[in-house]
Amino acid sequence: MDDAVSDPLVLGQRVVAILETGARDATYKLALLMALIEHCIENLPDRRNDTLQVPIADLAHRVIDLYWRQVRPFEGQELVQRRTGNKARITDATKRLRAAAGIGNSGLSLEVAMMRVPDAYADAIDTVVIALAKQPLPRLQKLPGAAASDPFLYDDSFLGENVSRKILREHDDSIVLKPGVASGLARLAGLLKPALEIMWVDDIRRMNRFLDAEIPDVAGHLFGRDRLALSAIREPFTDAFGPHCFYCSSHLPTNNPIDHVLPWSLVGIDGLANLVLACARCNTDKSSALPAVAIVDRVLRRDRKTLEDIASELQWPTQRDRTIAAARGIYRGQPTGVPTWAGYKQTERLDVGFRPQWP
Ligand SMILES: [Zn+2]
Repeated sequence: MDDAVSDPLVLGQRVVAILETGARDATYKLALLMALIEHCIENLPDRRNDTLQVPIADLAHRVIDLYWRQVRPFEGQELVQRRTGNKARITDATKRLRAAAGIGNSGLSLEVAMMRVPDAYADAIDTVVIALAKQPLPRLQKLPGAAASDPFLYDDSFLGENVSRKILREHDDSIVLKPGVASGLARLAGLLKPALEIMWVDDIRRMNRFLDAEIPDVAGHLFGRDRLALSAIREPFTDAFGPHCFYCSSHLPTNNPIDHVLPWSLVGIDGLANLVLACARCNTDKSSALPAVAIVDRVLRRDRKTLEDIASELQWPTQRDRTIAAARGIYRGQPTGVPTWAGYKQTERLDVGFRPQWP
């Protein structure tokens, strides 16, 4: 086993090193790494030093999801995500899928497009799988100027510009993360994801000169949740669960926030199973903190039939399985004793020996 990656700290340092060396030609490597980290959280292996097979199609879905909001015009212009000369296969495929689903510039999610136009979705995944296999996957572990790649995350020898569908099939259309990498990336998610977002915002400012300092919130456009789109769930949730804050039970005004129970900054799950009505006070106080396990228990115990009814009415998936998988991955990766958010101005330490029991 490679000792270097058995230590999450060393793994993190090596990941940061490949990202910080030289200016990037495109944001695709950042997207790929974010996708990998989220996949590891949701598919955490049982043992710390296990390998993990990652279907490239799964990464393609997550990468499209990351660009989903970003390809919408910002300040009236389309953002450039690469230097001139680099191919735009991934963002073009994302735009084509948005167009095929007929959702314009609305905040509707990728999952909605999946339901509406399954064939166009399959085409987009296919295009992005090949695009990932040609460029960011074989380049991620290669330092700028270096002749060879240093495959500390996964074997990338079969990937590159000449990769074919046949070659991918021979590798089960997957990459295999080396021993310890999956659990290491999952444990580092809370540190790496915000760092990747900052790098992404810097890249976008560098590649889009019209974004001078006066343009307010680039990060919000790239990574912000869409409040307008989320507001569609306010009414059905109020009808189903009452006009109360999920956390403190206070009575809610009509424009209350919608809160992501598992923080949006850690896993971007917009499914109904991860959403609750909250008061502004709790929402602000919780911010991107990890909620106490009891809160996750309570949100997962909400009536499934009710959520599924709302899901089919709104064409908005519950993503219950994803939420459970992410919760497992997040809490198992935490050291015991870590503080969690247990309510307004309350923290609770994660139990020693805690083993999540979510179904
Ligand atoms: Zn509250």
